[in-house]
Amino acid sequence: MVSRVIPVDEFDLVIFGGTGDLARRKILPGLFRRYLAGQMPKGSRIIGAARSEMDSDGYRAMIAEAIAEFGGEERKDSTELNGFLETLHYVAIDAQGDGGWTELFDVTRDGVIQAFYFSVAPSLFGDLAERLHKHGIADDTSRIVVEKPFGRDLASAKALNDTLAAHFEERQIYRIDHYLGKETVQNLMAVRFGNVLFEPLWNSHYVDHIQITVAETVGVGGRGAYYDKSGAMRDMVQNHLMQLLCLIAMEPPSVFGADEVRDEKLKVIRALQPVEPHHIVRGQYDADADSPSYRADVENPRSFTESFIAMKVQVSNWRWADTPFYLRTGKKLKGRASEIAVVFKDLGHSIFEGDTARHRNILAIRLQPNEGMDLQVTIKEPGPGGMRLIDVPLDMTFADALGEDSEPATDAYERLIMDVIRGNQTLFMRGDEVEAAWAWTDPLIDGWEGRNDVPKHYEQGSAGPEDAMMLMHRDGRRWRDIKG
Ligand code: NAP
Repeated sequence: MVSRVIPVDEFDLVIFGGTGDLARRKILPGLFRRYLAGQMPKGSRIIGAARSEMDSDGYRAMIAEAIAEFGGEERKDSTELNGFLETLHYVAIDAQGDGGWTELFDVTRDGVIQAFYFSVAPSLFGDLAERLHKHGIADDTSRIVVEKPFGRDLASAKALNDTLAAHFEERQIYRIDHYLGKETVQNLMAVRFGNVLFEPLWNSHYVDHIQITVAETVGVGGRGAYYDKSGAMRDMVQNHLMQLLCLIAMEPPSVFGADEVRDEKLKVIRALQPVEPHHIVRGQYDADADSPSYRADVENPRSFTESFIAMKVQVSNWRWADTPFYLRTGKKLKGRASEIAVVFKDLGHSIFEGDTARHRNILAIRLQPNEGMDLQVTIKEPGPGGMRLIDVPLDMTFADALGEDSEPATDAYERLIMDVIRGNQTLFMRGDEVEAAWAWTDPLIDGWEGRNDVPKHYEQGSAGPEDAMMLMHRDGRRWRDIKG
């Protein structure tokens, strides 16, 4: 199957923080792939902006190196690379000073789509937004893209929203949660709302529970100082896992439009019940023979920040009453695997004599590795010997199902950036969604901080603390194995 590349209109994309880690690792290699796919129209420009002094040629050399390091297979085609590099420009600018803005004004153009990617610390968002207007560079057709973290609590998220709203309307603001750009996450909506098969069963009458797991094998890496102030709840649950939960739990929107989808997600967040302390398990990884403990990694021997969290969450509405959502995420776990598993209820009655095993249909949606899904179904074990039943997965890996000619695995970032250029906000978080998510998260964090809860220990390479297993076992359920 050959994929269709839908062209976008000519654009100028200014990347503030264009020399930073995110720009070099994700944004520019992603844009290069869009260029290779023929989606970047002729004449479009990418303008890197940061304080470092260099000219456009220096910037091109920097990005060529970044693409060589992070660009994947595509980097090998040097003729195409030169064409891409020619679209790059650079302006030395200080978000907090006045130098460089006239140059930026000169290099950007009227009459093409203008997007400004704020790939800098959130403390600079206000400075950038203000100066873009003060120097007449942005207008009411411009778009801005902002990165996580969007606040660290409700008050700071509100302050950030107010800062941006002073200069841009909500329709101009694209808050990135790159999980929403993942192919499988969008497929979740296609599967739910594009098939007759699942939606009738998608409720507490048929669904026993839902598990959402985002497991990493890496530790905090070089982000120790940042991570220790954040923890798994703020870094992963408040944004990525909650977005996944929303897509699973939301009602069908009337159309697949930006506000229609986001209205439905917002209703889910507002229907989340406060979580009881005994339904939350927080953990920190221990040292093992080869690598240090969490506390050593973050250089804080008294840290109470969690590198793992598991929780049982209840969505209090007509569809989901009595169907718990179990969420877990952590670092240094046994596999790098993200999945959503919809575990259906047992059959009320079995007609097969002697079959006492519990058979369950499970729809598992894999975000990584091998994006795809499998549906566990019960069949007859082959061979003579009567009706013995076994559970087998009907497995579909998208790469296999769609064939080699399908679009190469598009990274979430490149897909989302193209949505910005198209002006499609469906896969971006709206301000009220972010605030509602913090309004639910804040009391939970305040709760464990107020109680001075000490995170449980867990071994590196395990599935997390023993208490996380108990969270499920108490309810007569168990976590799915973390593969990957
Ligand atoms: P980084 O590597 O520290 O880069 C920061 C960038 O901002 C650099 O280009 C820096 O260049 C520029 N900068 C700093 N102060 C500036 C100023 N006053 N005026 C203009 N430019 C300035 O950070 P990063 O990892 O790329 O992260 C950027 C943002 O994305 C952060 O908000 C981060 O939380 C978020 N984020 C990053 C990742 C990731 O994987 N890296 C993932 C999710 C979210 P100069 O020093 O030359 O000015």
